[in-house]
This record gives sequence, structure tokens and C-alpha cells, in this order.
Amino acid sequence: MRLRDLPSVDELLRDERLAKESRPLAVAAARSTLERAREEIRAGAEPSFVDSGDLAERALAELAAQRRLRLRRVLNATGILVHTNLGRAPLAGAALERVLEVGAGFSNLEYDLTAGARGSRQDHLAPLLRRLTGAEAALVVNNNAAAVLLALAALAEGREVLVSRGELIEIGDGFRIPDVLARSGARLREVGTTNRTRAEDYEAAIGFETALVLRVHQSNFRQVGFTERPRFAQLAQVAKRAGIPLVDDLGSGALVELEGEPTPASSLAAGADLVCFSGDKLLGGPQAGIVVGSAELVERLKRHPLQRALRADKLSLAALEGTLALYLDRPQEIPVLRMLREPAEAVRVRAKRLAAAVGGSVEETVARVGGGALPLAELPSFACAVEEELAAALRAHEPPVLAVVRDGKTLLDCRTLTDAEAEEVAGAIVTARR
Ligand SMILES: *Cc1c(COP(=O)(O)O)cnc(C)c1O
Repeated sequence: MRLRDLPSVDELLRDERLAKESRPLAVAAARSTLERAREEIRAGAEPSFVDSGDLAERALAELAAQRRLRLRRVLNATGILVHTNLGRAPLAGAALERVLEVGAGFSNLEYDLTAGARGSRQDHLAPLLRRLTGAEAALVVNNNAAAVLLALAALAEGREVLVSRGELIEIGDGFRIPDVLARSGARLREVGTTNRTRAEDYEAAIGFETALVLRVHQSNFRQVGFTERPRFAQLAQVAKRAGIPLVDDLGSGALVELEGEPTPASSLAAGADLVCFSGDKLLGGPQAGIVVGSAELVERLKRHPLQRALRADKLSLAALEGTLALYLDRPQEIPVLRMLREPAEAVRVRAKRLAAAVGGSVEETVARVGGGALPLAELPSFACAVEEELAAALRAHEPPVLAVVRDGKTLLDCRTLTDAEAEEVAGAIVTARR
């Protein structure tokens, strides 16, 4: 074909398959198909199409590609439970039901059904959060980064915040404590040294300009060797004596005892005035930032203008309420907790079944929590090992399967797969080998 042999957009659209498609979509697909055909001809090589039938075929493929949704479900065979690149916590069935129920129609999001008047979106989850953490009051915003930003802006704007040099951390994706502090309008006052900070260091740094003490969970790293941090209760005494609030950025914020992680309840009991934590890390819910603590301080956060910009939407609130309600009597239904607590033997049985179905071998692995939580925790796990070359084809499968390539093998870790998902992975391996 030469340039002048190319059909016009209208001619191309007369193809009976394209004529059946929605007109604006078909026009756009025909235009870009012809544009690419022109480029191919101009480039001088023998074009890879011979007639307008071929071009119509291409336009149809382009249309299908345009219709394909980009945010897709994937199967997580990486053994990383709270994988930040894979959407962090999968939601419990009960949480999803709440999203459907609240999202499909109208809701009392900001309506007080008893008073018959305007209400607050913050009222729905506060009773559950108070009960699960022992706090006087609670507030939910978009994520924990927003929670920390709001707390600092509302309580420390224009004044000093004391943070240990050992806690000036970066969580990833640009969330750095010093930067967040600067954006909040507060001034950072570094305390102690990288490896050792004592209660007296905080004491010595407190002055007229001090608004609060911020304690930050070290999250994704650990210090070993010659290190020292004051116990939380000790720090709380220092803050109390000075009459300033102690704010605890807990990061992940597990609501149940996990590997010695501090819970919001334990932090409050040890003297924190406010505790901030994520909804979608170890808690196992949707993306959200939760602040619990003294009624007076939470009220100051609620009244700050940034609160309106950082608040959580109704779908997140619905999913979070559904997740929190499970903590009352059915925590085992929360996928993150289930993956975390499943006995290694049960994981091995799943890996064995998968290996038997696809002719792979069972390998002992180490699963991790991920999401910047419990970086040292090693969860004994098992994977089904198959050929290294399958990794790319598994990623291209629908749904895509994400695995770990190591030592010349593709490892499909079974701690992060349900039984049903492991069956889907088996099907994907069979397809990938074709
Ligand atoms: C993860 C984390 C954050 C950020 O939480 P998001 O919910 O991801 O915004 C803040 N502080 C600490 C200590 C964290 O671990």
C-alpha cells in the first residue's frame, strides 16, 4: 500500500464490524490507526498491512485496548502480605458488603437520623474506634500521612515540634517526617542523636516555643548495636510535666497484639495524647488515616481548615466501619490477619496442591508483612517453584500473577494466596506454558 491508497476515516468506518461500534470511539480508533499506517509507509519499509480489512482489524484491536480497564485485580504470589505496589490490604467480605450497601444509594453520611438535621461523617466510626482503642475521641482522614499532617498543622503551626534524630524517617514514596513537618507550618527541633536519644534530651529541648513531642514509629527499619530510646511511658511523663501533648505516629497500628507491635490502645494507656495510624496496613482495611486520643485535641483537628481537604470519603468510611466491626468478634475474617496467622503447615498443603497440579516443586520460603510494618518479622512459608521463563507470561495473564524470580526459578508463594486463588494460579501456569 502507498499513502494515496490508504482509505479515508469514513471509508474505514464503513467496515461492518466498525460500523457497529459507538461512533466517537470508532472515529478515534480509525484516526489513530490511519496515522500509524501513514507513519509506517513514510518510514519506507514494506508496510505490515495489505488492505483496508487489515486496517479495520487494527482499529478494532485499538478499540478493545481502549475499553480495557487499567486498574485490575492481580494475584499476589510474592509472599508480601501488605504490598504497597499491590494495593496494600485486601478487604474482608464484610467490608465490601458495606461499600456496596452505602455506595449503591443514598446514606446518612452527614445526616443525624435522630435529630432530623445535619450530622457529621465523623460520628459513625467514632464509637467503634473508641471501643477498640480506649480513646475518648476519634477522627478519620484520607491516609496516615494526612493524619500526621493535620495533627501537626492543628497543634503546632508556627511553633516547635520535638522529634528524636533516630525517628526522622522516610516511609517511601517521598513521605519524610522533616518534609511533612515543614509543610504543616511547624518547626522541627531535632533531639538526641541518630542512635541514642534519652528522656533528658527531650527535657532539655523543651522551651516556650515547644508545641508538642512527636514520637514516630521506625516502621521500615531497625537499629541495632549501641542504641537507646526512652520508654514511651517515660516520654509521656516528660511531656506531661511540661504540659505539652505527646503525639504518636504509630504507622501501621495493629489493633491486636502482633509480634510485640504497639497498639493504639497500648500507646494511649502509656500516656499518648494523640495516636495516628493507617487503615490499610496491619489493620487490614481500606486506605485511611485514623487519629484517636483526647477529646479536646481531636476537636482541634476537626475544626482545622485542612480537615475538610483531608477527610475520608464515604466508600472508605463504609469499608473501614465494616473492617472495624469484624474486630469485635470475627477478626479471623480479616484477610491480612488470616494470612499473618495461618499455620505454616496449612500454607505447605496449599503449595503442595499447586505443585501437584502444575508439576512444580515445593520450596520453603520466608513471607514478609511489607507496607513498612514489622520489617524483621519472617513468616515461615512455602512456594510452588516453576520454570523461571514463566514469570513474564504469568504477569501477562488475566488476571496477572505476580511471583518472585530467584535462583533460576519462579516462586509462587502460597501464604498470600487463598485456596481459590491458588487454583487460578494453576490455570495461569498451564496457559503460560502454551
Ligand atoms: C506508613 C506510615 C505513614 C504513612 O501512612 P499512609 O497511610 O501510607 O499515608 C506515616 N507514618 C509512619 C510511621 C508510617 O509507617
